[in-house]
Amino acid sequence: MPSPLPPKAERLDAFMARANAHYYASKPLLSDFITAPEISQVFGELLGAWAATVWQNMGCPAQVILAEAGPGRGTLMADALRLITRCAPDFARALDVHLIETSPLMQQAQKQALAPYVQPTWRDRIEDLPSGPLILLGNEFLDALPIRQFAQTPSGWHERYVMDGAFHLVPCDAPTLSDGRKLEPDTIVELCEPALEVARYLGQRFAAQPGVALFIDYGHHSTLTGDSLQALRHARPAHPLEAAGEADLTAHVDFTAFGATAQQAGANVYGAETQGAFLRTLGLMERTEQLATRATTEEAAILRSATHRLAAPEKMGHLFRVMALTSPGLPSPPGFMKGADV
Ligand code: SAH
Repeated sequence: MPSPLPPKAERLDAFMARANAHYYASKPLLSDFITAPEISQVFGELLGAWAATVWQNMGCPAQVILAEAGPGRGTLMADALRLITRCAPDFARALDVHLIETSPLMQQAQKQALAPYVQPTWRDRIEDLPSGPLILLGNEFLDALPIRQFAQTPSGWHERYVMDGAFHLVPCDAPTLSDGRKLEPDTIVELCEPALEVARYLGQRFAAQPGVALFIDYGHHSTLTGDSLQALRHARPAHPLEAAGEADLTAHVDFTAFGATAQQAGANVYGAETQGAFLRTLGLMERTEQLATRATTEEAAILRSATHRLAAPEKMGHLFRVMALTSPGLPSPPGFMKGADV
């Protein structure tokens, strides 16, 4: 007998969307976790230089949308714009900056951070961006998007729902999974539909008009199975259901599915490269040493330790991955050793 759908049960993606909307709208960001742009200014600077090169690759369009999805405190974009204003003034003049952010609290922080450089326009969704040449950045954006979880049990496929702070498995039809992953009985498989919608939208858009997108996130290169839903509260793992709305809920990004979907929709795909290799190729070490020679001994030590944290394999260097999507016909974006690898 299949168990009936419990009353008031909420599908995991609906639960995660609601919990995260509350979390991002009410908690000062980064009280529970720290991200690459907050670790070192070099992160945003390198992405600013990356964007300037990409703009040149696009033929230096007179107007270009520079957008960031989920900009948090606005630190990445502020560091990027500081570098662009100083080192690439022609690119700075061409910029029309858009931020994809749903939380009013975050929008306020972003407005302050960018005040010295630009007055950005806010959008709820990537799909709401105006048409035209586009450069889009997203650090730890995709991992916050709601996932669904399925398990194949001896009595057929089940999907995870949430009720009264506990998981429930509810019988369902076989999910449509876009790849050939090996499904062991009873293991959880995850599906992030909003991320695949983003990939599909960008693939179609880049096939029709010039654009390049860069996503950096923790996730897997080849598709894995297993439960990757995690909650962080006060920098410590918490139970994902107990701290609902009070903790940051994320899941690993399935870069294989993301890249394959973008490619099918029409984009060229690069990566997923490791964050360590990507940042090193962009000049992480050189920029760190440049800043360190101008700094006090103590500041130089902090800079070098931040760089180590971003790039060392045992820190963020391997766990975090970088994927670029481009319009077909554009040159390879900087930082990728090889082409599509999905
Ligand atoms: N990129 C930042 C912040 C990462 S936290 C950094 O690296 O520090 C995730 C960010 O995405 C927050 O700004 C959050 O408010 C935003 N966000 C989460 N879900 C979103 C959604 N569905 N649509 C738009 N923004 C979202």
